[in-house]
Amino acid sequence: MADNFIENIIESDLESGKVKEIITRFPPEPNGYLHIGHAKSLCINFGAKEKYHGKCNLRFDDTNPTKEEVEYVESIKEDIKWLGFEWDNEYYASDYFQTMYECAIKLIKKGLAYVCDLSAEEIKETRGTLTTPGTNSPYRNRTIEENLELFEGMKDGKYPDGSKVLRAKIDMASKNLNMRDPVIYRVLRATHHHTGDKWIIYPMYDFAHPIEDAIEKISHSICTLEFEDHRPLYDWVVENLDFDPLPHQYEFARLNIKNTIMSKRYLKKLVDSNVVTGWDDPRMPTLSGMRKRGYPAEAIKAFCQEVGVAKSNSEVDPQVLEHCVRDYLNDNADRAMVVEKPLKVIIDNFDKDYEEFEVQNNPRKEDSGTHTIKFGKEIYIEQDDFMVNPPPKYHRLVVGGMVRLKGAYILQYVSHVEEDGVVKEVHCNYIEDSAQGGVNAGIKVKGVIQWVNANDCYDCTLNKYDSLLLDEVDGNKEFDDRINPNSLVVVKGAKAEPFLYESKIDTPFQFMRSAYYKLADKKDNQLLCYLIVNLKDSYQAK
Ligand code: ATP
Ligand code: MG
Repeated sequence: MADNFIENIIESDLESGKVKEIITRFPPEPNGYLHIGHAKSLCINFGAKEKYHGKCNLRFDDTNPTKEEVEYVESIKEDIKWLGFEWDNEYYASDYFQTMYECAIKLIKKGLAYVCDLSAEEIKETRGTLTTPGTNSPYRNRTIEENLELFEGMKDGKYPDGSKVLRAKIDMASKNLNMRDPVIYRVLRATHHHTGDKWIIYPMYDFAHPIEDAIEKISHSICTLEFEDHRPLYDWVVENLDFDPLPHQYEFARLNIKNTIMSKRYLKKLVDSNVVTGWDDPRMPTLSGMRKRGYPAEAIKAFCQEVGVAKSNSEVDPQVLEHCVRDYLNDNADRAMVVEKPLKVIIDNFDKDYEEFEVQNNPRKEDSGTHTIKFGKEIYIEQDDFMVNPPPKYHRLVVGGMVRLKGAYILQYVSHVEEDGVVKEVHCNYIEDSAQGGVNAGIKVKGVIQWVNANDCYDCTLNKYDSLLLDEVDGNKEFDDRINPNSLVVVKGAKAEPFLYESKIDTPFQFMRSAYYKLADKKDNQLLCYLIVNLKDSYQAK
């Protein structure tokens, strides 16, 4: 069953026999790291391949020589693999430069392209407006022979950068501005990351892209809505170059997320100006940032599925993504106990070294296994979980009260030590046989709190992340004015149970009653954890 309008088109093309095999492509420009918006395009293109047993190519759209770097190519491949997608072929648009050059000659020979000496400024001026037609270039009627010679001269470096361009000869009065004799080749002396200095003429995107698709026999060239007005030019190029079969372009709405930067250019600015530590900073909306933060690939794919594929632009709430992350981790992350602001509790009536309890790693997952926790004479609980003057409905430890320790005993308050109004330590008795399965386990206690054993816990630093951007105020959309100064808060001195230290780096956990964190680093008995997402969910799934 088709999930969206693109799949509807694919299914009817397969049914009618118009298309024999589904071939899509993901065509990133290697000028930055992939972000969450790209994930949507990846899910659509690779999703179609998987669902309809077709192919999907990874094609680096590297026709623009000045901005592209090898580092980006490598990061893009890593991110796609991380999402679990496999491309059938790895191509570089620059590998087609020779074919594109021949295509340009073919158009010239057909009288459909000419060399124009107008400057970029003049071309813009003579292009007309949405309401007025453009005017023909004085070079529009050059002969085929003259055009062939001049174009070859452009290729051979006879002319300076920007002095001549090749334009498609279409219609300067077209209602569609993209059809008013668009530039298809320019002279540009720049070293290309793939072809070096071999070429000094480079094709424009609107000419190159349809040729790339046609060469690869792409059946459905899926792109974002801003290319809708370019579709007539896309069709013009492939039709006039007599490709068979003809590729077709389909447009969907790009993913926009509130308060989330989805432009590589601006993300690069954040990196270059050291607002973040790099493209993979855990606060970045890049796939590498999300991976570092601990977002599971599955959650990102579930998010793309949840927002769907639409034909009109809209803005998604970041809560939706967080919901998907939480949803996945709730089922898949092991539970662990960490105390962020420790308060020492001494168990007066406990006189053994320690006792051991077996706890299930993830109560939502049967095969998640168990691990052992030790309970000794001194433990830590959260400072907030004990109050001398509690507000109403405070169901934790209070003077004279009882509280259950998660996975262990019920504690009964005995006394506490206070200095300058600050509680320094609490004394309690444990209630014998009150752990799960014990004869006193049924004692009614409202609160259950997390804790760690003082004797064997590990010191832990928590990197708490928040949105990189603050909300718009008075409609001010400027990113520069909206950088959140508190997007990273480092909390030192937390205490974690040994289970965490024994786990592999990058493992995500639910810190009970706190949030989802991933284990980011461990050394010298110190742990570092990154906040993935908070526990609280305000999003209602469809
Ligand atoms: P940016 O503006 O961030 O540089 P781009 O569109 O120039 O993005 P490309 O590298 O050209 O980035 O994108 C590769 C593919 O990903 C294209 O097909 C593009 O349409 C798609 N894509 C990019 N951004 C989004 C988005 N926000 N939502 C959906 N698809 C996107
Ligand atoms: Mg682009």
